[in-house]
Amino acid sequence: MGEDRTSTQVIVVGAGPVGLMLAGELRLAGADVVVLEKLTAPTTESRASTLHARTMEILDSRGLLRPLGEVPNDRRGHFGGIPLDLTLPGPYPGQWKVLQTRIEELLGQWAQDLGADVRRGHELTGLTVTEDWAEAQVRLPDGTTATFRALCVVGLRRRGQRRAPPGRFRLPRRRRHP
Ligand SMILES: Cc1cc2nc3c(=O)[nH]c(=O)nc-3n(C[C@H](O)[C@H](O)[C@H](O)COP(=O)(O)OP(=O)(O)OC[C@H]3O[C@@H](n4cnc5c(N)ncnc54)[C@H](O)[C@@H]3O)c2cc1C
Repeated sequence: MGEDRTSTQVIVVGAGPVGLMLAGELRLAGADVVVLEKLTAPTTESRASTLHARTMEILDSRGLLRPLGEVPNDRRGHFGGIPLDLTLPGPYPGQWKVLQTRIEELLGQWAQDLGADVRRGHELTGLTVTEDWAEAQVRLPDGTTATFRALCVVGLRRRGQRRAPPGRFRLPRRRRHP
């Protein structure tokens, strides 16, 4: 076990679009944030490529649409092959084509510009809750480990994955309050 490297208010696990958006929002609210991401470089894997109206509205509210430039739009969509008319009232009707890799790049830059500390090659391997802190055990890029402390740790569990959260660390038992 290595030495403690950092103490912060919030640790966000995962520099995907959700983690990066959350990190930026937390910074806007004034919280200190460290984002732990196990990958050493952003993924080039092709995943999401479509944004819907509400996502566009949220990005717009944070001034994040302009850097995307001209975004291709299709006012029709489908659900399981059944055509859907997406022309609901609103500023961004329809679906909009932006690769997830581009969104992650944009949100990553935004969050870091706001002061989020994004650490790549840092994998959460364990979590302990004490009276005062949540302590995250983290595998560092050089293979050693360190403990990061925070008032709050945010991570996501994949749908249907009740017992083995991402990273396969064990979640601490929830305390029973009298
Ligand atoms: C093939 C495919 C197509 C898709 N198409 C669409 C689409 O068209 N439109 C759409 O809206 N959505 C689509 N999705 C869904 C979309 O990709 C996900 O909803 C989105 O990636 C979820 O974002 P996230 O930030 O929650 O998680 P992720 O993008 O999965 O990010 C989680 C991050 O956490 C990191 N991580 C995991 N465990 C640890 C750990 N222990 N320590 C540190 N870091 C860790 C991972 O490396 C990863 O970078 C698609 C998904 C797939 C697989």
